[in-house]
Amino acid sequence: MKEERKCMLIVISGPSGVGKGTIFSRLLASDPSLTFSVSATTRAPRTGETDGVDYFFITDEQYQELVAQDAFLEHATVHGHSYGTLKSQIEEKLSKGLNVVLDIDPQGAKQVIAQWPECVSIFLLPPSYQKLRERLYGRNTDASEEIERRLKNAKGEIEQAGMYQYAVVNDDLQLALSQVSAIIAAEKQRTSRYFPVVE
Ligand code: 5GP
Repeated sequence: MKEERKCMLIVISGPSGVGKGTIFSRLLASDPSLTFSVSATTRAPRTGETDGVDYFFITDEQYQELVAQDAFLEHATVHGHSYGTLKSQIEEKLSKGLNVVLDIDPQGAKQVIAQWPECVSIFLLPPSYQKLRERLYGRNTDASEEIERRLKNAKGEIEQAGMYQYAVVNDDLQLALSQVSAIIAAEKQRTSRYFPVVE
C-alpha cells in the first residue's frame, strides 16, 4: 500500500510555566515527523539558550525590518517583548515533509488560525494558578517582576482557550504527553490529509 500525507501545522499555546518546553522536547524526541519552528524574538537569551536553536535573538531594528518585509506568518508582543514566526521556517520545514509545531501565544494563534484554518490547535492548561506560580518560581529562570508579569498575563491567555480545537491539562506530565500525542496521531489520519492507495 502506498501512503501519502499532507503535512500539518500544529499550534500549541499555554501560559508561561505550563510545561510547554518539556512537552515539546518529549514530543519531538518521540515522533520524527515533527519539527519545531524557531521563532524570532527581541527578548534576551536565557542561560543555556542558543541562537538559531531556541530562538533567533534579534534587535528591535531587525524585528521592524522583518515586519516591513512581511517575513512573519504572525507576530505579537508577549510579556513586553516582540516575537514572530518566520514564514521561511514554515515553508522550509513543510517542504521537507515534516509536521511543524509552533509554540506561540494566543495573539499569534489567532492570526495563524485565521490564515491557516486547517491547522491543528491545542491549548495547554495548568491544574491551578497556584501550581503555575510554583512552577514559575521553581524553574528559577526569570526575575520575580518578570514572573509576576507572566502570571498576570496567564489569566487573559487562559480565557482564550476556547479558540483552540483541543485543551489538555498538564498536571501529570505523562498523561498530558499521551493526550497531545493522541491528538496528533488522530489528526494525521484525517482523510483530508491521508491518502492510502490500495493496490
Ligand atoms: P518565552 O519568552 O518564555 O520563551 O516565551 C514567552 C511566550 O511567547 C510564550 O507564551 C510563547 O508561546 C510565546 N512565543 C514564542 N514564540 C512566539 C512567536 O513566534 N509568536 C508568538 N505570537 N508568540 C511566541
